[in-house]
Amino acid sequence: MLQLRFVTTLNSGAIFVPTSLPICAARRWPLLLVVGLLALGAPLGAVPAAGKDNSRYAALAAAGQGDGAMTVRPVARPDRRPPPLVGQPEAAVLRAGDTLAKVLTGAGLSAGEAHEATRALSRVFNPRRLAANQEITLYFKDQPPVTDGRRFTGFFFRPSVRREISVVAGPRGGFRAYERERTLTSRARYLTGRIEDSLYNAAQQADMPVAVLSQLIRIFSFDVDFQREVQRGDGFEVVYDHGHDAAGAPVVAGEITYAAMTLSGRTLRYYRFTPRSGITDYFSPSGQSVKKTLMRTPVDGARLSSGYGRRMHPILGYNKMHRGVDFAARTGTPIMAAGDGVIDQIGWNGAYGKYVRIRHNSTYKTAYAHLSRYRRGLKRGSRVRQGQTIGYVGSTGRSTGPHLHYEVLINGRQRNPMGLKLPAGEKLRGADMTRFKQVVAAINKTRDRLRPAAAMAMN
Ligand SMILES: [Zn+2]
Repeated sequence: MLQLRFVTTLNSGAIFVPTSLPICAARRWPLLLVVGLLALGAPLGAVPAAGKDNSRYAALAAAGQGDGAMTVRPVARPDRRPPPLVGQPEAAVLRAGDTLAKVLTGAGLSAGEAHEATRALSRVFNPRRLAANQEITLYFKDQPPVTDGRRFTGFFFRPSVRREISVVAGPRGGFRAYERERTLTSRARYLTGRIEDSLYNAAQQADMPVAVLSQLIRIFSFDVDFQREVQRGDGFEVVYDHGHDAAGAPVVAGEITYAAMTLSGRTLRYYRFTPRSGITDYFSPSGQSVKKTLMRTPVDGARLSSGYGRRMHPILGYNKMHRGVDFAARTGTPIMAAGDGVIDQIGWNGAYGKYVRIRHNSTYKTAYAHLSRYRRGLKRGSRVRQGQTIGYVGSTGRSTGPHLHYEVLINGRQRNPMGLKLPAGEKLRGADMTRFKQVVAAINKTRDRLRPAAAMAMN
C-alpha cells in the first residue's frame, strides 16, 4: 500500500498533513489522447434541462412556503381524542428482543391484562413493529381494583416524532387504543457559521441538526465541490423550520427555506419555492433553479466521514495524469447519479475497479470508480434519476483508500469538472416569478429579523 505525505498550504496559511491519502488509479493515459483532448478542447453541447418530474427534493418537499409564521398542524382525528391517562407515569423501555407483553408483565400486570392491552394496541399499531429502545410511559393509580398494589390505567408512546399512541383502560375493564398526530408548532430558526477547519465542524458549532446539514449539502451539491472548494473563512447561513412541541421544546428539524454559502468571497443564495408545477425546489434570487444537469458532488452528504468535509485534504484534483476528481468518504457511503440518464457501462474495469458509467444525453456522461458495490438490480440500460443511489464508495481497483473517483465525459472525453460550466436548470417565469419574489421578500424579512447584527456582514 502506498503511503503518501502531502503538505499543502491553504489560503489561510494553515498546513494539513494527512498521512494516508486515498490515491487514484486510472492514470496510464496514452499521450496521443491527452494531446488530442488539449488540441480539440471538446465543445460544450447544448443540453436540455432535467425533467420536471425528477425533483430530488420531492421527498423533502411539503406544500407551502414557511416565512416563519406560526402554523399549527391539525389534529388527525379530532373525533377520537384520547381521554387523558390518569395516575403516576412510569417510564419503560422496550429492549431489543423484548415484547410489549414482557414490558407490561415486568411492570406488574397479569399475563391476561398484558395480553388485553396488547390486543387493543394492535387495532391502531402492530405491536411487532415496536422498535428496540422505544420509550413507553405506563400509568398506574393507587386505587382498587389493584394489580400489585396499584391499578394500571394505560400506556402512551410515540412511534415517530409526529405520531402519538395511547392505550387507555376502560372504566369497566378492557382497553381502547387511540392514535393521533402530534401537534407541533413550526418556527423559523436561523443559523450561521464560519468554517475554521471543516463545514461539518462549523455546522456542529452552529447547533445545526444533521438533517439540516444534509439538506444544505444537497442544495449546494450542484454548485459546490465539497471536497475541494470549501475552505477556511467560508461561511453559511440557513433559515429552516423547526417543529416545537406544546411545551416549546424543539423536537424535529423541518425544511430549509433559505440557504446561503459564501465560498472564497462569492455568495450563493437559494430560496425554497413551489411553482405551479407543484415541484418544490430551491431557486436563486433571479429565479434560477439550483438544479443543474449534473451534480458537482455526487456523494451523499448525509454520510460525512473524516476526509469528506471534516478535514480539508489535498484530495487529488484533475490533471492530465488523473482525469477525474476524488471524494474521500467512508466505504459504503452512497454514491448518487449526478444526473438523469441510462447506465452505459457497469462492471469491473481494470484499475478503476468496480465502475459505473451513466449516459445523460448525447453530449454528457459521468463515471464512478472504485465502488465497493453497485445498487442491487442496476444493469446496463437501467434508467437512473439525478440523486438516486447507484452504488457505494469503496477502494476496488488501483486505489489505496476508500474514495469515489468521479469523471465527467463530454463527447466521450474526460473533462475537468472543476472548470465546467454546466447548462442552467429551469427558470421561473410569469406568475411563478411574481409569487417567488413575494416569497423571497417574506423569507428575507424573517432572516433579517432572526439574524444577529454580527452576521449582517455576510449579506
Ligand atoms: Zn481518482
